[in-house]
Amino acid sequence: MPMDEFAQSTANLKQAVPLMIKYQIPTTPTNYALWYTYVAQTNPQLNQAIDRSISETGICSAVTSERLYQQHLAQDTERNSEQVKHSLEAIATELQVTMQDTRIDAEAFHQVLEKGFAKLSAIDNDGLSLDEMISLVRELVKNSQQIGQSTRFFRDQLTDAEKEIGELKDRIEQIRKEAYEDAMTGTLNRRAFDKEINTWIALDKSFCLVMLDIDFFKNINDNFGHMFGDQVLKAISRRLDESCKNGEHFYRIGGEEFALIVPNRKLMVARQFAESLRRAIERLSIMDKNTNQRLNSVTASFGVAEYTPGDNYQSLLHRADMQLYKAKQLGRNRVMPMSL
Ligand code: GH3
Ligand code: MG
Ligand code: MG
Repeated sequence: MPMDEFAQSTANLKQAVPLMIKYQIPTTPTNYALWYTYVAQTNPQLNQAIDRSISETGICSAVTSERLYQQHLAQDTERNSEQVKHSLEAIATELQVTMQDTRIDAEAFHQVLEKGFAKLSAIDNDGLSLDEMISLVRELVKNSQQIGQSTRFFRDQLTDAEKEIGELKDRIEQIRKEAYEDAMTGTLNRRAFDKEINTWIALDKSFCLVMLDIDFFKNINDNFGHMFGDQVLKAISRRLDESCKNGEHFYRIGGEEFALIVPNRKLMVARQFAESLRRAIERLSIMDKNTNQRLNSVTASFGVAEYTPGDNYQSLLHRADMQLYKAKQLGRNRVMPMSL
């Protein structure tokens, strides 16, 4: 974290903590996030709501804090992970502030903090930029070596901080799960796909990639409406889910595009699998509940590529895309390459 950002978060925290004490707000990650956001003034609606609560009742209770958190901060995954970062930042900063004010035993502090740090570094921090947090904690460890005698107060603080780090870890896992899911269909999303395929490539395992693109989907939207289009996407997701029984995984990687990773298979076997998906989608019959119209003609085109050692993300996706493109060119509702 750049030094001025750190100074800013320290300043924010120095304001937030006294407010939390004043209103007797428990120091949970949620409340840290809420009051940190309040003093940072990045969410005007939240500030209005807190100010209203304080002017109406003179307090902002723990329950109100929780409710406000749910209303203003919890909805958005992106923002949520921001808040987790803020919470970690707040804890680390608080520790540092306390440390500066308190003379403690360097060795005891070092041990406790190392334990907390070991937990923190076990977090798979991909995408959440916890690196910053970890380096912050490292800094604390370094600073601790210059400090003298320990105090009980500070040990309690550390115990609390460790507990909070544990709670934050749970929330980070929750957020990470949400970050890999496509909200509409509940399937894995593009982010999950990118991560997984890179893992497969890095492990140099044999697998095939299947790209699926719904045919003339724009027409379905135009004729039946966007809402019905969404129903079609959900129905196709369910069909794919039913079909992926042997370790295959599927991902919604674009609007009406899906990708499947088929493990341990040769091109022609994966091709047959794609062919079975093609037929399963062709057999779909989807009812539009609003108009009682039935759609019997949804189809999809497929491109299949086999991973070969030396492939990277781009080369493999490009081969699968080229096959998909050919399938579209040749009239759609088909799998490419053709069987031999
Ligand atoms: P092609 O056979 O060549 O693939 O034709 P297409 O109409 O399927 O392809 P095109 O790329 O022209 O249009 C894709 C359409 O998918 C356009 C976009 O409005 C629609 N779409 C993308 N995401 C969603 C979604 O989440 N819901 C709905 N209902 N439609 C979506
Ligand atoms: Mg498309
Ligand atoms: Mg399409």
